[in-house]
Order: sequence, then C-alpha cells, then structure tokens
Amino acid sequence: MLLGIITKKLRKELHDTRKLLEREKQKGKEDAQERQELEIRIWKLESELRTYQYREKHIRDVLKYEYWERIRPLYIMGTADLKRSIRLENLFFDRDEKTWGVVESYCLQCGKVLRASYFSQELEALRYLAMKQMLGIAPAFDTCMECYQESLRACA
Ligand SMILES: [Zn+2]
Repeated sequence: MLLGIITKKLRKELHDTRKLLEREKQKGKEDAQERQELEIRIWKLESELRTYQYREKHIRDVLKYEYWERIRPLYIMGTADLKRSIRLENLFFDRDEKTWGVVESYCLQCGKVLRASYFSQELEALRYLAMKQMLGIAPAFDTCMECYQESLRACA
C-alpha cells in the first residue's frame, strides 16, 4: 500500500535526522543555527508522520468493516444456503470418525489429503470453509512421505 511506503520513508527520514542532530550535539559545535534547523525538521517530520499514521489506521478500520460485512452473513446462513454459495470440493465426511473435514493441504504428487481440520457438525465445517474461501485461502500443497521416498529412490 502506498501509505505504508510513505510512512516507512518518513520514519527512516526522521530516524536519520535525529541521528544527524545527535551527531551535531556531540560535536559540541557552537553552530546553533544548524541545530535549530534540524530540530525544526524533526518536528515537521513527526507531525507529518502522525498525519499519515492516522490515515493508515483509518483505512485499516474501513477494511475491517468491509471484511466484517462479508463474514457476518456466514454466521446467519444455514447449511443449505452455505452449500449453495461455496465450492465444496475441499469438504469431506469421514465415515469412520463420523466427522466433517476441510482439507488444509494435498500432496502435490499423488493428490492424497495430508492435513485437514475436523468438525463434528456439518454446519461448522461449512462455515470454516466459507470463511477460508471468502479470504481467498486455498489448500496448500506439499509432498507426502511416500512420494518423497519415491523421489529419493528415483534420484539414486
Ligand atoms: Zn504423495
């Protein structure tokens, strides 16, 4: 974000100017004029930085409420509505454990599920999945132990 770059630049300039002033003071120079100029520059930079920090915070607050407006309906929707509005390919039912799973990562080579989050209720799993999809978080890819050992054998 542009504002982030500006505040970072200002912070660095402020830091450098403070160091410069410190150096001038240590020199014990009688050049009060120069020192005063540096002090004024620091004061200006500080107030500028405060303005940008305020703007940054304001933008964060706006984003926060935008996200909240998108998350909120997920807690009101029922199972049927959620099922209609999200992609379900990463949701599964574990028959043995009688739990609902949401895939967190797959094996890149064989496609096996490596990690999943489990829920006792379908609705919980759907909400969790919906939240992830809303934030644009897809399952990760990794390599399972079998495929890893297979690749080692292939290399040897
Ligand atoms: Zn694998």
